[in-house]
Amino acid sequence: MTSTSSKQPNALIRPDKDTFLSEENPFEAMMSRFDYAARCLNLDPGLYKILRNPEKQIIVSVPVPRDNGEIEVYTGYRVLYNTSRGPAKGGIRFDLNVSLDEVKALAAWMTWKCAVVNIPFGGAKGGVICDPGAMSPGEIERLTRRYTSAIIETLGPDSDVPAPDVNTNERVMAWIMDTYSMHKRHTVTAVVTGKPVEMGGSLGRREATGRGCMIVTREALRKLGMPIQGARVVVQGFGNVGSIAALLLQEQGARIVAVSDKSGALHNPAGLDVPDLLKWVREKKLLAGYPKAEAITNDQLFGLPCDVLLPAALENVITSKNAKDIQAKIICEGANGPTTANADKILEEKGVFVIPDILANAGGVTVSYFEWVQDRGGYFWEEDVVNQRLERIMVRSFEEVATMSAKHSVSMRVASYMLSIDRVAAVHRLRGLYA
Ligand code: NAD
Repeated sequence: MTSTSSKQPNALIRPDKDTFLSEENPFEAMMSRFDYAARCLNLDPGLYKILRNPEKQIIVSVPVPRDNGEIEVYTGYRVLYNTSRGPAKGGIRFDLNVSLDEVKALAAWMTWKCAVVNIPFGGAKGGVICDPGAMSPGEIERLTRRYTSAIIETLGPDSDVPAPDVNTNERVMAWIMDTYSMHKRHTVTAVVTGKPVEMGGSLGRREATGRGCMIVTREALRKLGMPIQGARVVVQGFGNVGSIAALLLQEQGARIVAVSDKSGALHNPAGLDVPDLLKWVREKKLLAGYPKAEAITNDQLFGLPCDVLLPAALENVITSKNAKDIQAKIICEGANGPTTANADKILEEKGVFVIPDILANAGGVTVSYFEWVQDRGGYFWEEDVVNQRLERIMVRSFEEVATMSAKHSVSMRVASYMLSIDRVAAVHRLRGLYA
């Protein structure tokens, strides 16, 4: 395993062919990309050190009475990676795999993601180590409220604004908003995003990440001179992001030839009927058993002939093991961190055009920003206004990353890091160092 955590910029490790990085540690994977982009930018050593370290890391113990009367104590984290550009923004996940390293990596990712689409937020992430599948709704509510009160000093519309992430949802955001508001003695809707529309959520937020994926995929096809009409698309993960992206791409004329979820994958080279699949999943919950397609394994999905591969499920699914089998010309990273740094090198050699996660799935945080703006202004927009403004930001960001990529002869991933690090660094220079 190669660790770069204590290196100075003049000793930066370039993730070239000879450097094989850990495929698992998310903080290392993120940092290897950060280091390379920082070197391409010639980032000065002081700023490099500042941007390589999270601003604030909070660890809390969260005692919760279980339904049977016993007390359980959970460990929770909130990491504010960088807030130079605005309030920290980032989701909260409830999962057994939560770790400080993972939360740090995700908080850094949020910093770069907000900067790449140029919205005025810094980056944060939070999580609690727990198994929500083994907890009752009442236990999850008590956990949410106690965790919220444990980190309440950091929270606030001007300082730190959570959102849903793995195993948290609108319901959890409503509890966070209520707990925070009870402490403040007045209703503060802008303290979280991803809320139910009835209590200050934004129209179009649920579809925003998938819509953003559709927009950047369309732009990538256009850039490569490939028509969207009939473009063959494979989607891994048929949840919020994957299913909406599939639906909207199909509406644009693309042919969705395969989809998958945790129950398995479906293939139909003639094209799947996405609204019909959505109806099936609404009724049966999982894709398994859908009759109008051939069932294949989740591993086979990655090697299918297609024009676009859209991973929208988990991290680390495109690795040095399967990257060489990928036939897609474009990969649109709907999920966070689906491609390992080692797979990146293989894909680059094969000439695959990768739309990196911090750009591809930034539609979600962009509409979260719209939600925060609407809450603060107390004036709510029609859905078509949300979608038009999202379209403009995604198209502009795609063009800015593509321009950076061409100018420095680097991949879209490196270019997206360069653009965002440059934006965060510029604000640090302007603000100066308070010492
Ligand atoms: P989700 O829970 O709605 O959907 C996840 C889907 O992946 C489900 O269909 C699930 O069955 C499937 N899946 C799980 N394991 C799988 C496997 N081994 N093989 C194939 N499919 C599998 O989640 P989501 O909100 O759609 O998020 C998906 C990804 O996108 C995550 O990485 C998330 O962090 C990222 N993301 C989501 C948003 C958002 O707004 N929802 C924003 C940015 C990034």
